[in-house]
This record gives sequence, C-alpha cells and structure tokens, in this order.
Amino acid sequence: MSMKEKFADIIIDISHEALDRTFVYRIPEKLQETVGPGSRVSVPFGKYDRKTEGYVIALRDEPGYDPEKVKTIIEIVPDSISVESQLIQVADHMRKTYGSTMIQALKTVVPVKRMVRRKNKSRVCLKLSVPEAGELLARWKKKGFKARVRLLERLMEEGSLDSGTAVRECGVPLKDLKKLSGQGILDLGPVKETAPAEGTFQKTGCEIILNPDQQEIADSFCRDYDAGLRKTYLLFGVTGSGKTEVYLALIGKVLEEGKQAIVLIPEISLTWQTVSRFSRRFGDTIAVLHSRMSAGERAEEVERIRSGRARVVIGARSALFAPVSGLGIIIIDEEHDSAYKSDSSPKYHAVETALYRASLAGASLVLGSATPSVESFAKARSGEYGLWTLKKRAGSGRLPGVRIVDLKEEFAAGNRTVFSGILKDLIADRLEKKEQIMLFLNRRGFAGFVSCRSCGHVVKCPHCDVSLTYHRNGSLRCHYCGYEMKYTRLCPVCGQAHVAAFGLGTEKVEAALAMEFPNAVILRMDADTTRKKHAHEEILRSFGSGRADILLGTQMIVKGHDYANVTLVGILAADLSLHSADFRGSEKTFQLLCQAAGRAGRGDRAGEVVIQTYHPDHYAITTAADHSYEDFYEEEYAYRSLMGYPPCAHLLVILILSSDEEQATRAARRISGIILKSQTEKDKVPVLLNPGKAAVGKIKDVYRQVVYLKHKDPEILWDIRMRLEPVLLNHPMFAGITVQFDFDPVSIY
Ligand code: ADP
Ligand code: ZN
Repeated sequence: MSMKEKFADIIIDISHEALDRTFVYRIPEKLQETVGPGSRVSVPFGKYDRKTEGYVIALRDEPGYDPEKVKTIIEIVPDSISVESQLIQVADHMRKTYGSTMIQALKTVVPVKRMVRRKNKSRVCLKLSVPEAGELLARWKKKGFKARVRLLERLMEEGSLDSGTAVRECGVPLKDLKKLSGQGILDLGPVKETAPAEGTFQKTGCEIILNPDQQEIADSFCRDYDAGLRKTYLLFGVTGSGKTEVYLALIGKVLEEGKQAIVLIPEISLTWQTVSRFSRRFGDTIAVLHSRMSAGERAEEVERIRSGRARVVIGARSALFAPVSGLGIIIIDEEHDSAYKSDSSPKYHAVETALYRASLAGASLVLGSATPSVESFAKARSGEYGLWTLKKRAGSGRLPGVRIVDLKEEFAAGNRTVFSGILKDLIADRLEKKEQIMLFLNRRGFAGFVSCRSCGHVVKCPHCDVSLTYHRNGSLRCHYCGYEMKYTRLCPVCGQAHVAAFGLGTEKVEAALAMEFPNAVILRMDADTTRKKHAHEEILRSFGSGRADILLGTQMIVKGHDYANVTLVGILAADLSLHSADFRGSEKTFQLLCQAAGRAGRGDRAGEVVIQTYHPDHYAITTAADHSYEDFYEEEYAYRSLMGYPPCAHLLVILILSSDEEQATRAARRISGIILKSQTEKDKVPVLLNPGKAAVGKIKDVYRQVVYLKHKDPEILWDIRMRLEPVLLNHPMFAGITVQFDFDPVSIY
C-alpha cells in the first residue's frame, strides 16, 4: 500500500512580480522524509514543464484542487544552501506586514549564495620583540599607515590573530600580510580548523566587573532564561551607563547554554572600536557582517556562521537574518535608530521583525537605548516588555551640564555669526586648556539652497524636486542624484547677479570656525569627507588620538564613541528637524540632542553642552537639556495619541511612482477611490488622508505621489493593502506605474 500523499506550496524562484503566488506540487514518496519548509527543489513549471527551481514554503496534506492536475517535484536541488524554515517564515511575516512579493521577502532573508573557495586558514604572529614592535609602531604612525597601525596594536596586545580577523577588522589586505611576513615582521602560518573549545571565548585580563545595577539586570535575565522564559526586554540606560557590558554578560550566559547570539548595531556605529570590544571577549567566535564588505568576505562570514564556527554575529540591520541555527538571544543596540527600518521592499523594521524571529527560535530579545523609541517605551510601560533601567554612568564621568541659548536673542543683540557668545567663550576656554570640542550641525532640513536674492528664483535640480546645494569648490550639487553644475551669480530668470547660497553647511561652519579660531586644528566629518572606504573611522581615530582640537560634523559624529578628553559639545542649530512635516520630528530632535550631549564628559572632567536653538521652550529641547527621557515621553505620547500617530495608531503609506506626472496623479486618485469604494463595514473605515505630491515630488525624473492611511487596527491596513496588490498588478490602468507600500514609516514621503 502506498503512503499517504503529501503536497508542498512552492514559490518559483523567478524574479517577476506576477509570480508572487504559491504553486502546489506533489512530493514524491522518496522525498517525503527530506522535503520540508526551506528545501530548494526543482519542479516542472509552465506550459512546457520547463525544469525550474523553487522554494518550499509550506507542506500540506490536500492539494486544494484537482489532484490529477498537480505536478510532482523532480528533486531537491543538489548542493543548494537550504533556507531554514524559520527564515522563510520570517520572510512570509515580512511580506504580510510590510507588503512585498514573497520573492523580494525571500531575497531579503536568504543570503546570496557565492562559491566560497576553501582557503587554508592561517594565523598571523608577531615576530618582533616588544621594543622593536614599539619602534615600528611609532614609525608607521608617523607615516600615517592606519590599517597597519591597527594590526600592530592588536598583535602587541594579543600576540597572534587569525588572518581573517587581521584582514576583516584591521583592514590589512592579505597581500600586505604576506609582504610583512616576507620582511620578517610577521609569521603567517597555517592552522588546523577546529571548533572553538569550551571556554576559549573567556579572554582574561580585560573583563570588567559589573556594577550592582548591571549585575542585577544580568541576574534577572539568567533567572528568566533558566526558567525557560524567553522575553523581550528594554534596556533603558543613559549613554555610558554600561549597556554594552551588560550585552556581553548576557551573551556569555547564552553561549554557556550552547546557544548563539545576534547583535545588531546601527551601521554607522559598527566600527573597529565596537567590534574589538566583542572580539576581546569572545575571540574568533565572532562574525561580522556589514555593508562595506565585499560579496566574497560576506559569504565567508555567512559560511562561518552556518557551520557553527562563529557563535556571535555582529552586524547592521540585515544581520538579523544570519543563518544562526541555535539562536539564544538577539540584541538590538540603539534600538530607536531609524536605520533599523529598511528603505527597500519589504520595508521591514528590524525590531518588530526580530520579535517574530525570536519567537520562532525560542530566543530572548534585548532592545537597548538611552532614548528608546516611543513605540518600545510604550510597550515596556504596559508590561509587554521587561524594563531594565540604568540611571547612572558606569565608569567615571557624569552627565554634562546643559545650557540652552536662544538664537533669536543672539541675533537681536547683533551677533551675525553661527556661534553664540557663550559657545565662543567656551570654545576659547577649552582650546586654552587643551581639551577637545565636538560641534554638531543638524543638517536635516537645512536647506543650504541656492536662490536669487533679487527675484527669489530657487536653483533646482533638473531631475529632482529639490534645490541644489552650494559647495565651496564652486559647484552646485544635487544630494539625491549627484547632478552637478557650475555655480554662477547670474540669475537665469531675472538676469541679475544676485544668486547666492543660504543656510548653513558644514563647510561654511568650518570656514567660520577657522576665521574665529585660527590656531585650532579642525576635523570635519560629513557625507563629503567620508566617501572613501575607511574614512569615517580614520577621522574618529585621528580625533580620538588627540590630533585635532575640534571635530565638526553632522549626525554621524554623535554615535557612540568614547572620548575622555571631550569636555564641550556644541549643537549649533538644534531645531531644524522640529518643524518639518515629519511626525517623528520631535523624537528625532530629542534623540540627537541626547546623543550629542552624551559625548561630553566621558572622562574625569565634567562636560558642558551648549544647545543653540530658535525654540528654547520646545519640550524636545528642554527635556533633552534636563536629560529627562520620561518627561519627553509623556509629552510626545500625548501628542501621538491626540493625532493618532504610531504607536497610538498605525500608518500605511502608498507611494506611487511614474515618469509621467499626469499618470502618477491619476493613479493616486484612483487608488484612493478604490479604497473608499471597497470599504464595507462602517467601523472599518480608516482615515484616508488626501492623496498628494510627496514631500520630494520628483527624484531622478520620477514623479512621486503619496496616499496616507491611518487606523488603530493594523489588520485593517494589511487587508486593504492585500486587496489592492492584485489590482495594481493586473489592471491595465496601473501599467507603467510602480507602487510601494510602507507600513509604520520612520520618515515622511
Ligand atoms: P553604553 O553602551 O551604555 O554607552 P558602555 O558599555 O560603552 O556604555 O560603557 C561606558 C564606559 O563605562 C566604557 O568605557 C566601559 O568600559 C565603562 N564601564 C561599563 N561598565 C563598567 C563597570 N562595571 N565598571 C567599570 N567600568 C565600566
Ligand atoms: Zn537631482
């Protein structure tokens, strides 16, 4: 007697929108034991039964229609990276929540398969004596060899390194390691690949003893973990309160239990500094994933993870999908960071998606922040998440004193510079004392636009609906598409020579700073100075080693770097994101101010912060100055609930793109019409905000229209989206139009 028949839902691996459907196939008897969710199989597909590959999404007992017509799976694709069922389920969850094709969702979670050449692993050892190494280090520093200096410093500390680590974390290419080995500086020898022995990750000498507050958190986690409780926790701790040390302790616990960990860090803070803290504790069992890696490097790390050789994965947003099989904990540092929201379909949020992955894997989830997102704090308040609080800084250092300066008063007093009187005095004072200064410019909303002072004509990008920005090299540049033209004073509209740049860019501030303090050494960090691969890190390193007095930059300078010698932080214009149309404007301003302020006074000396603003009474500014997250939260939550914004309601944005302006407008109106017409029950009516032009109405010659929907019940918004999707795909009136969905966006459109 034959076995009971089994069937599988399969997604065909062809990147085409119309194929976003599952197909049912019969599983042949010989494969019934081996095929499961995640198996990659080949099947006969289409009219001519072409042999095609697909993913098994689910198993089922009934085909759902005429069994005679159901085709049969041919085989499991040999040599394929099998997608684990959990990741496929995660993909399915993202598709349902955020809207995308299943193929897009799968591509997000399934690592690109690359042939990884089995290289012989080797180890780098230092062959020099301590004084010799010290001499060489000084020489290399003088020559400005950044990567080699990093390597040598680590080798002097640790003696030997895995060559992969040397390449990955120090940035010394393999060919240079060979060269140095040829020069007798290093020894580059093969090692036998072994699984990490128990306890090898407990490096000695550098372990910090947790303070009582930290210990209490670690203990409560261990109690829950041992009791089999896998919860979500919010670790709410001021900057410098020792959150990272807590993470290390929790990971240690999970590893002891034979499990693995994923740690997410915003890409921009994923520096050598951060990685080395983890690698010092866990040694070669860490794997690092970030976007600056080559596809080959990435594939190699993924392979280490898959094989179980790497047990702690550290990476940016997409590391959430690392193929970790025994997941015990997911940690998301700086959980409020908007970089955790993907900006391409599926536009998932890593925090919400991590919740789902953790629940499937039976893992704990820890969210850490000094300024939690309103969403997460609301859940901690309601008891849905456990709440851990660290109120004090861990090491030396107190929270800095903050002064608010009203720029309107400065202007009235005749000050026409970008530095208030107080800030100028304090900068001079710190330069005198040889202490360091960080100046932060919130570029968000900074027009920096170029216009004619005579007729008001604004010089715009011909391809995008934004004004061009002036650069000191004499060009005007578009920040969206890179379009560049020569700056000329002559206005193309009125013909007068009055075209000039408004607003305040980092370059302009740097010039003003150099005028005011001619002897100060200034480092500038912005999109322009960090274009090169390691530029970002080099600037921070250089500042950290005391080679400059002032670090001037955009938001990238405020992310988690410890500089003991920084005693003054100036925020030049705090409120530029306050009054944008973005409902998260206050939250973003508050977060930036707290983070910026958190840079001051990390060492023994007290720090000071000066916030320059046009709105000294705004709650985002006053509560940041008081270091009072709770007060901010109360105000902000009240505002969100009054306006019906997340977390008090949910938002669905429909973004309509077309190269034809007319067509985009028409499509937006039609989509609103379809939504209105398809509504049935009265209480299900979502708030439909009028369709209209997006905040940036055109990018790269593509016109952008938006439709906003708001509702308390997310299911209703998902429903609407799922009803729309087939219409958008199949109806001729939407041909040539691209529609993207964004559920609970983190920025406006
Ligand atoms: P956060 O991640 O909250 O910003 P960190 O973990 O980076 O804080 O800690 C801030 C500083 O305090 C670091 O220099 C760290 O080494 C130090 N630190 C943290 N915990 C302790 C502790 N228990 N004892 C001594 N120093 C600590
Ligand atoms: Zn442009």
